[in-house]
Amino acid sequence: MHKLVKYIRKIDYLFLLISVGLIVLQVYLELKIPEYTTELTKFATSTLTTSSDLPEVYKNGGLMLACAVSSMIAGIITSFFISTFSSNLSRKIRDELYKKILTFSNKDIHRFHTASLITRTTNDVVQIQNFASMGVQLLIKAPTMAIWGICKISATKLSWTMAALIAVCIIVIAVTIAVIVCLPRFKKIQKLTDSLNAQARENITGVRVIRAFNAEKYQDVKYEKINKDITDNNMVTSKTMGLISPIMSFVMNGLILAIYWLGVVIINDIKVDNQNMMQAMIERGEIVANMIAFTSYAMQIIMAFIMLIMIFIILPRTIVSTKRINEVLDTKPSIVDGNLNDEKVTEQGVVSLKNVSFSYYDDEHYALKDINLDINKGETVAIIGPTGCGKSTLVNLMMRFYDISIGEIDVDGHNVKDYKLNDLRKRFSLATQKAMLFKGTIKDNIALGVDEKDIDENKINEVLDIASCEFVNNLEKKENSEVSQGGSNYSGGQKQRISIARTLYKDSEIMIFDDTFSALDYKTDFNVRKKIKENLKDKTVIIIAQRIGTIKNADKIVVMEDGHIDAIGTHEQLLKESKVYQEIALSQLSKEEL
Ligand code: ADP
Ligand code: MG
Repeated sequence: MHKLVKYIRKIDYLFLLISVGLIVLQVYLELKIPEYTTELTKFATSTLTTSSDLPEVYKNGGLMLACAVSSMIAGIITSFFISTFSSNLSRKIRDELYKKILTFSNKDIHRFHTASLITRTTNDVVQIQNFASMGVQLLIKAPTMAIWGICKISATKLSWTMAALIAVCIIVIAVTIAVIVCLPRFKKIQKLTDSLNAQARENITGVRVIRAFNAEKYQDVKYEKINKDITDNNMVTSKTMGLISPIMSFVMNGLILAIYWLGVVIINDIKVDNQNMMQAMIERGEIVANMIAFTSYAMQIIMAFIMLIMIFIILPRTIVSTKRINEVLDTKPSIVDGNLNDEKVTEQGVVSLKNVSFSYYDDEHYALKDINLDINKGETVAIIGPTGCGKSTLVNLMMRFYDISIGEIDVDGHNVKDYKLNDLRKRFSLATQKAMLFKGTIKDNIALGVDEKDIDENKINEVLDIASCEFVNNLEKKENSEVSQGGSNYSGGQKQRISIARTLYKDSEIMIFDDTFSALDYKTDFNVRKKIKENLKDKTVIIIAQRIGTIKNADKIVVMEDGHIDAIGTHEQLLKESKVYQEIALSQLSKEEL
C-alpha cells in the first residue's frame, strides 16, 4: 500500500492531520458524556433523600449537550476532509492507471487481458477509495476509543472490568475466525469479477452472433458458472460477516446484564440500618451512578471493537486491490521510445527488413521467418497471400506495435527501435484490416487526433471524395453525422471507406492499406484505387490484398506463404516464376484473362 501513498497530495496531508485532531477531539467528547451522566444520576438519586440543587443539574445537562453537539460538528468536518482526500486519491490513481495502460504494447495488454484492466481501473480503485474514506477514520478512531475507554474504567470495580474484558475477548475471537474464513475468498472474488466482466463483455458485444446461432444457452452456461462461483464466495463471506452482528448484540446485552447483576450484588452488600440510613443511601446512589457510567464506557469500548472489525472487513479487500493496481503501475511498457533526433533523418518513405523473424509468444512458432524486403520511396508495393500467412503482422512490425527478436527493420535509414514512437508512427498512415471507428462524428473520425479548430474542411471533402464516400452526402448532417461506438451504425463497406478517408487525411510518407479494399465491391474498389493512384503519386504505398485485380499494377508484388516470402516481382514475372502466385491467379481469373 505504501506505493500508492505517493499519490496523496500535499494539501491532503494537511486535511488528514486536521482530521486526526478532530477525531481525537470527538473521542474525548464522547467519553466525556458519561461523566455528566454520572453527575446527573447522582442528583437524581439524591432527590430520594434531599431536595436537589437544580442549577447544578442545568449546568451538567447543558455541558453534556454541548459535548454531544461539538462531537457531531467535529464528525461532520472530519467527513468533509476525509471525503475530499479519498476522492482525490482515487481520481489520481485512476489517472495514473489510465496513463500507464496507454503506454502498454499489445503484448502488455494481452498479459493482463482487457477486462481485467477495466476492473482494475474501476472496481479495485473503488475499494481503495472506500478504505481511504472509511478505513482511515476507523483506523484512528477505534484504537483511540478502545484504549482511552479502557483507561477510564480500569479504576472502577474489578468485577465490572473483568466482565468487560471477557466480552471483548469473545468479540476478538469471533472476528479472528471470521477474517480467517473470509480472507482467501476476497482474493478469489476480485479475480472472478475479472472473469465475469470479460464474459459479460463478450456476450454483449457478440449478442447478434449469439442470437443468430441460437447459442444463448451455451453462452449462458459459461456466464452462469462464473456468476455462481462469485455468488458462492460472496455468500460465505456475507454469512460469516453476518454472524458477527448478532453475536455483537448478544455480547453487548450480556455485558449490560452482567454489570447490573454485579452492581446489585455490590449494592446489597451495603447494609442499611437506622443509624447510617442517610450515608448508606448516598453510597448506594453513587454505585448506581457509577454503574450507568460504566455501562456507557463499556458500550463505547465495544463500539470501538466493532469499528476495528469493520477495518478487518475492508482491509483485506483493499490489500488485494492494491496489489492488483500496483501490478499494472509497476509494469514497464515493453515498447519504449528510442533516442534518435528526428531532425537527423534525411530519407523519406523507405522501409527495409533484414532477416526478420518474429513470434508472438517468443517461442518456436514463428509468424514470420527470414523476411528480406526493400521498399523504396514512391513505390507501390503489394502483399498477397492466403489468410494467416503474416501480412498484417509484417506491417504491424514496421510501425513497431511489436518488437522483433531476430533481424532488423529500418525506416528511412534508421532502426525502428531508435525512433521516438511518435516520430516513427507519424511516418505511417495505416488503414487497419478491421475498420475501427470511434464515438463522435464522421469528421472527428477522419481527422482523428486533430484539434477541432485545426481541421481542414476542404481536405475532409477531398478525402471523402477519393475514398468514394458518396453515401456521406446523402446523410442529413453530411460529415457531421454521428458515429456510434465502434461505428455500429454504418455498414462494413461504409466503415472501411471512412477508414480509408482517415488514412488519406493523415497523409504520411508511407501509406498502408491492410486488406481495406476487400470489403468494397469490385467497382468501388477500382474507383478508389484509381483515385488513390492519381493522388498519391510520390508516396510510398503498401497494399495488402486478396484479389489479384487489386494489385496487378503494383510496382512490386510480394507473395507470402506461411510466414515467409515466396517471391517478389511484377505481375508478369510472378505469373511465370511463382507457383503460389499462379495458383492464386488461376483461382480468380480465367486462363484467357491470364
Ligand atoms: P494475415 O494478415 O496474413 O491474414 P496475420 O499477420 O494476421 O495474417 O497472422 C499471422 C499469424 O500470426 C497467424 O497464424 C495468426 O494466428 C497469428 N497472429 C496474428 N495476430 C496475433 C496476435 N495478436 N497474437 C497471437 N498470434 C497472432
Ligand atoms: Mg491480415
